[in-house]
Amino acid sequence: MDILKNYIDGRWTDSASKETVAVLNPANQQILAKVPCGSDTSKDVEQATVAAHKAYQEWSKVPVMKRVQVLYHLKSLLENNLEELAEIITNESGKTKGESIGEIQRAIENVEVACGTPMLMAGDVIEDIATGIDEMMIRQPLGVAACITPFNFPSMIVFWFLPYAIATGNSFIVKPSEKVPLTMMKIFEFIDQLDIPKGLVSLVHGGKESVDAILEHPTIRAISFVGSTPVARYIYSKGTANGKRVQAQGGAKNPVVVLPDADIEMSAKIIADSVYGCAGQRCLAASTIITVDDEKRQVKDALYEAVKSRTTGYGWEEGVSMGPVITPDSKNRIERLIQKGIDEGAQVLLDGRNATISGYEKGNFITPTILENVALDKELISTEIFGPVMSLISMKNIDEALQFVNSGNYGNMACLFTGSGASARRFRNEADAGNIGINIGVAAPMAQFPFSGWKDSFFGDLHGQGKHAIEFFTQTKVIIERWPNIWSRKF
Ligand code: NAD
Repeated sequence: MDILKNYIDGRWTDSASKETVAVLNPANQQILAKVPCGSDTSKDVEQATVAAHKAYQEWSKVPVMKRVQVLYHLKSLLENNLEELAEIITNESGKTKGESIGEIQRAIENVEVACGTPMLMAGDVIEDIATGIDEMMIRQPLGVAACITPFNFPSMIVFWFLPYAIATGNSFIVKPSEKVPLTMMKIFEFIDQLDIPKGLVSLVHGGKESVDAILEHPTIRAISFVGSTPVARYIYSKGTANGKRVQAQGGAKNPVVVLPDADIEMSAKIIADSVYGCAGQRCLAASTIITVDDEKRQVKDALYEAVKSRTTGYGWEEGVSMGPVITPDSKNRIERLIQKGIDEGAQVLLDGRNATISGYEKGNFITPTILENVALDKELISTEIFGPVMSLISMKNIDEALQFVNSGNYGNMACLFTGSGASARRFRNEADAGNIGINIGVAAPMAQFPFSGWKDSFFGDLHGQGKHAIEFFTQTKVIIERWPNIWSRKF
């Protein structure tokens, strides 16, 4: 089995580390590759940073209109190889074919928005701010930037940052999740074809050791992180203590409120997609469903109907609507949380544990699970499950529901299903979350908008995507100029 190479200084190179971990297909445990890890990966980060710094000196002087031309090329490479890329995503992450294609499309949308960088990074000018004096603010790149990404979106998340970083004139280092490094291997075959200086964009593998090397390297000016909250908090505190600009997206626990005036059937279908899409391994997955004044139990019945027809299996097979979870450890953790919820009084409407999928008996499968009357003060309600589990609870009115929504530690997403504009308006103003959905189950911001997040779901200020990303990867410079009027000789 081949050990994956890094891509540094425009070449595929062996890691300095001889330690490896296996990359497994979560549907059948087939070993797909071996990825370097361990303390010597810090030497890879050092090499990539030296090359990136050199490339930055050249690239930052290339006019922005010319810099974005490489993004048009990258977009067409991604589009022309979409199906091959999607299959890699499915095989290493477990997603269905549709989900894998969907995430690449989201990546492409970010490339498209970053093509607008010539306008997006435009500065401000005030002429004659005082007699004979003009003042302007321009945006300049930072230098070397890096991103560290999670397993659940092997392609898309890197694109919240990469196209903006290079379009604004920076060089960029990607450290993908060691669980899903193969998608980036393919994408770097495309990056290798771009007309950019060697070393401008590098790929380094590894786990905690390569991340620590990034956090400590004095030349790296900015870090974009996406992953779990404990690691996000660590990256933010260590990165900022080392003087870096850091944006760190963390975990989530997303509540969805269904009011009695909602279109129940439509809401149930959308909510089921939100809970079980990507096997619940989305930071915007609905997790706790709060029905309000639902005495006739309409919502519960509609949800049950919407959920039970879903087909779990190997994601590349026709008709499969949900794949496995990422690792056996992850499956065990989710099953333990389900059992704990039951022990603490929750009732089981659907139990997805002990699922076996014919032909994929070794896969990490859990089929859709619904628990109701889950105790509000227990782990199942406060912890990110990151699996296909819905907790159903009920509240008397929207006030109670909003109080519950705002009581959690996370603030990634909150959604409301309603037919009332007034309720929608109140919810979007009062819910404490960075992404709000009204009659939407996965409130994923399009590439023009920041991928927001509040409370323990985000550490930093500027988010990924759109104008926030442009601001994150640039520093402002304010220039004030006096030009004496040589004709009148007035000052
Ligand atoms: P993770 O935190 O385990 O890993 C993320 C990255 O951090 C990986 O590249 C990994 O190598 C590195 N890492 C892991 N442990 C580390 C440590 N101790 N020190 C330094 N680096 C370390 O996350 P994951 O399991 O890959 O991804 C799932 C998590 O990501 C979930 O919590 C999910 O909610 C979150 N997520 C958040 C968003 C968002 O936008 N808020 C988006 C996607 C995923």
